[in-house]
Amino acid sequence: MEAADRIRATTKRLEKLAVLVDYLPTLDDESLVIACHFLSGIVFPRHDQRTTRVGGSILWAALTELTGLNDEALAEAYTRHGDSGDMVGDVLAAQPSAGQSLSWMAAQFAALASATGTARRRTIVRDTLGALGGPEARFFAKLLGGELRIGLKEAQVEEAVAKAFGRPLAAVRHANLLRGDVGEVALLARDNVLDDARLALFHPLGFMLAQPLTTAEEIVDAMPSPFILEDKYDGIRAQAHVDGEEVRLYSRTLDEITHGYPDVVVALRGLGTGLVLDGELLAVDPASPRQARPFAALQRRLGRKSPSPEMLAEVPAAFIVYDMLAWNAELVIGEPYLTRRARLESLPWRADGAFMAPSSVALTAEDVESAFDSARAAGNEGLIAKDPGSSYTPGRRGKAWIKLKRALATLDVVVTGVERGHGRRNGVLSDYTFAVRASDTDPTLLNVGKAYNGLTDVEIAELTERFKAITVQQFGRFHQVRPEVVLEVTFDIVQKSARHKAGYALRFPRIVRVRDDKPATEIDTLARVRELAGDA
Ligand code: AMP
Repeated sequence: MEAADRIRATTKRLEKLAVLVDYLPTLDDESLVIACHFLSGIVFPRHDQRTTRVGGSILWAALTELTGLNDEALAEAYTRHGDSGDMVGDVLAAQPSAGQSLSWMAAQFAALASATGTARRRTIVRDTLGALGGPEARFFAKLLGGELRIGLKEAQVEEAVAKAFGRPLAAVRHANLLRGDVGEVALLARDNVLDDARLALFHPLGFMLAQPLTTAEEIVDAMPSPFILEDKYDGIRAQAHVDGEEVRLYSRTLDEITHGYPDVVVALRGLGTGLVLDGELLAVDPASPRQARPFAALQRRLGRKSPSPEMLAEVPAAFIVYDMLAWNAELVIGEPYLTRRARLESLPWRADGAFMAPSSVALTAEDVESAFDSARAAGNEGLIAKDPGSSYTPGRRGKAWIKLKRALATLDVVVTGVERGHGRRNGVLSDYTFAVRASDTDPTLLNVGKAYNGLTDVEIAELTERFKAITVQQFGRFHQVRPEVVLEVTFDIVQKSARHKAGYALRFPRIVRVRDDKPATEIDTLARVRELAGDA
């Protein structure tokens, strides 16, 4: 624990590393494993589903019990540091160390994980803090908080392990990928048996992430030719481990979520041995079980530990699979994407609760545009473009996967009212209420939103003068204006709303530009708003 303090004392990465490289070989096996976990900022190995379930309030109550300090005194110490761990270290600074070992501390965490009830956990925390010196207590509290903030990450612990025991960093990383336990890997490194590491099935691996781009052209430029397109499904990311009849599902946060999706588990059973599959959990249409429903439908299933039969019938879920990380208990992440896809295709898919994500080959921006339109028409969020030769990089956002979400939709609207802004914008008319036309033939204006973002101060100052000149009526801060100023606005989504005359509202509207080139007679109509809301 003293090493942790020395690591914290320096901001230099190499010095931190040097402390670790000296320290790790001095530890016995058990302490080496624990130290590697603790220094990575975790209490249990990454794949271990146990948690200590100690939040700030248990920690404060335990500290109050131990020290007799009142809330005010603790709050003051907290404010000085802005961090519970440092607050603990501060309040208990005078406590001498009783020389507790790493394994003693690990046993306290294990006791917390198995304790039932807040009172019991509070007592354990109180007694643990009481048995530790100030800096050790700080370390304990920081680990409880899940954030060590001594500036180390698991990647650096891997580096230290490689250096401390004279092994290649790549071998350490690979073994850690297979095992998901940097402590166990440190032992393998010390014994020089890293090559013995085998994939630990039912230990979740990190997920590969995608980078965003906004246009089809950018995607074509960034991808090799040809490349692959898949729909971007709007569900929750999940990893399935399948070994014969045994199936488990993990979320993106590496938590096990198997029990929430019995329908998916059944569909995945018997699909193969030693498989790790990557995909998206979706709510599907009960009448058409391959038809994705919007995320809002899935929301009813989230957080349910075990859904009722009625829920399973009303909101069936499916796992749509787009990648394979392991096959026959061997990692295949180093193989090209197309090879992994071919492996996926060879599996005996048979049930609607689990199926492969369709993909297509693309060459041009037109291909991307048309695939995007079909994805949207199928109710999906957009596209993911994938490099056919790329390997799977767990936990990383590489250039091999690129996501394209909704193309920026805009509306041309006319300003019907303006208001003085707030704060810095108190003196100018900066908040604009805007409207669309009822139809091409009916010039009635229907308000659909209000925007105050997107223009520069200079533009706002100019518009303020124009709006003053066309003010028809003033009510307090609000000016009703002649509908002459046309704006192009963008937004997140179009929602139904009773607040505006149009019956719709734009969520998060932003002004793209003032369209002096367009007369108010040519602005967008209600029909276009309906279309954007998906009600056309
Ligand atoms: P983001 O979460 O914005 O980084 O976007 C990437 C996410 O898109 C992934 O984490 C997946 O949950 C999701 N996604 C949906 N469809 C796919 C797909 N076909 N391939 C990869 N990721 C997908």
